[in-house]
Amino acid sequence: MNPTDRTIVLLGSPGVGKGAQASLLTTSERLPHLSTGDALRQEIAKGSDIGSRVREIVERGEFADDGTILEIVRQRLERQEFSSGFVMDGFPRTVRQAKLFDGLLAARGRRVRHAVYLSAPEDVIIRRLTGRLVCADCGATYHSEFQPPESGMRCDRCCGHVQRRADDRPDIHIERLRTYRERTQPVLEYYRTRGCLHEVDSRREIGDIADELRGLLRTKRVSAS
Ligand code: AMP
Repeated sequence: MNPTDRTIVLLGSPGVGKGAQASLLTTSERLPHLSTGDALRQEIAKGSDIGSRVREIVERGEFADDGTILEIVRQRLERQEFSSGFVMDGFPRTVRQAKLFDGLLAARGRRVRHAVYLSAPEDVIIRRLTGRLVCADCGATYHSEFQPPESGMRCDRCCGHVQRRADDRPDIHIERLRTYRERTQPVLEYYRTRGCLHEVDSRREIGDIADELRGLLRTKRVSAS
């Protein structure tokens, strides 16, 4: 195992702020970011085969099939820039995906260094989901109330078009949160038993959370919490 591998997995409910933290880490730590949700939205926007296969599933807030998701992850792992660590967000979403991910990493002599659980009560999550905005071009995240883009609906980072996601609707939120509780929460236990889970209260200031994550990346491995 490479002791300097900085692979970090961000876990937590939809809307908890995984994307925002991932983009701060990407900038400050120069780590590449893989969001399976962003990757799927890009495929949908391009109208690729994958995109047409998953479009309706993603818009309904259901899970895409493991084969498609694993293929996206596997392709990124082949890239040189992913070789010394990366920030993963939106994956794994089930214990099965976590096991398959471990298999992909192990085949390359790697493993998850840190799994970070960003926690927040459900009322906070709903408020965040309700105002959530995303850049259609680079995936940067904003919030209509707490963190609007500086100029209208133009992205501060790439000038792309900032918009509401197609799956950000109240009926879909309820469904996604239910699916999260049933299928994704067990992933926390999976990483806890492997001694690499770290819980962070995501009601704190976004910058304070980012500082904590940066500190974590400088440690070798967290103890079980
Ligand atoms: P996200 O941007 O992480 O909220 O993901 C948006 C949507 O993409 C999800 O609601 C799913 O439809 C799909 N998706 C993203 N990641 C995964 C995954 N790991 N497994 C299955 N579906 C996923």
